[in-house]
Amino acid sequence: MIDPFGRRIDYLRVSVTDRCDFRCKYCMSENMTFLPKKDVLSLEELELVSAAFIRKGVRKIRITGGEPLVRKGIMELFRNLGLYIKSGELDELTLTTNGSQLEKYAGELYDAGVRRLNVSLDTLDPYRFQDITRWGNFEKVRAGIRAAKEAGLKIKINTVALKGFNDHEFNDLIKWTGEEGMDITFIETMPMGAIDEHRSDQYLPLSEVKKEFSASWTLTPSQYRTGGPSDYFDIKETGGRVGFITPLSHNFCESCNRVRLTCTGMLYMCLGQQDSADLKAVLRGQNGFAALDAAIDEAIGRKPKGHDFVIDRKSDDRPAVPRHMSVTGG
Ligand code: SAM
Ligand code: SF4
Repeated sequence: MIDPFGRRIDYLRVSVTDRCDFRCKYCMSENMTFLPKKDVLSLEELELVSAAFIRKGVRKIRITGGEPLVRKGIMELFRNLGLYIKSGELDELTLTTNGSQLEKYAGELYDAGVRRLNVSLDTLDPYRFQDITRWGNFEKVRAGIRAAKEAGLKIKINTVALKGFNDHEFNDLIKWTGEEGMDITFIETMPMGAIDEHRSDQYLPLSEVKKEFSASWTLTPSQYRTGGPSDYFDIKETGGRVGFITPLSHNFCESCNRVRLTCTGMLYMCLGQQDSADLKAVLRGQNGFAALDAAIDEAIGRKPKGHDFVIDRKSDDRPAVPRHMSVTGG
């Protein structure tokens, strides 16, 4: 699949639920309203759409959410999509998780064919962890990370950079991930969906953070590429890698290779734009796989050049897109 700007689209992110067992302050409000179950694609439907994308050349699928591992029966989807890894039709099946259920599922994920995953962790302090996630349990996540390592899964930590919250912990996080043999990526907050706080209070441009890191760490641009938006640097002192996802201070859209399926079957061609294609309607219609393939082609033909994210006082904290990251899948 080639989009109108000549970019090859070979990466699909699939949000399997908008529900979550945490309420991270930058992601959701505490009394978040979730979608009615009937609007959410069944596991079979999620697999059918994923299979259509694989037929059209997708080589990498990331399962996300909400919290993907709280969806009932989710291991069935991992096992079934894992068969495409075994047949060579897919290069990678991975997930982004808050880690709360990893202790339970790490072994099964490995058996299904998952080899790498991203765990989101914004602080190493259990009290601050509880504060930012509202409902999370730090020890459970640490146990999940340990279990994933023991199962043979390679872990990358995702940390949202939040001004006045975790900026004093970045060096500790780099040190810890280095010791644990994990990479770490820092992410700027993106203006997605209404939350209880002011985003302009939380926003920390990573271009500044990167400059400060250079005082403590020897960073050299890494050869490592994931095809993703992250800029990676090798860290001489730890032997690990640090990545920066900077949608606001540096636009990463030129090399975008991905589209996102929500748990309701909407295909978003860009995280930061509203245009979408309703694949659920096509899937639940009468016209079979050919109609699904045609709907995907038509949607890829509408992929926009880039996002319009901006966070400043003038934007009045209005989200650039009204949907939450947990709906589109981060
Ligand atoms: N629940 C899983 C987790 O937390 O890893 C997967 C879904 S979560 C929406 C995916 C990623 O998006 C997490 O790393 C989270 O920190 C990040 N995220 C959520 N809201 C965000 C926002 N407004 N700006 C930037 N990153 C955000
Ligand atoms: Fe849940 Fe992930 Fe959003 Fe936190 S960032 S509330 S863990 S979906």
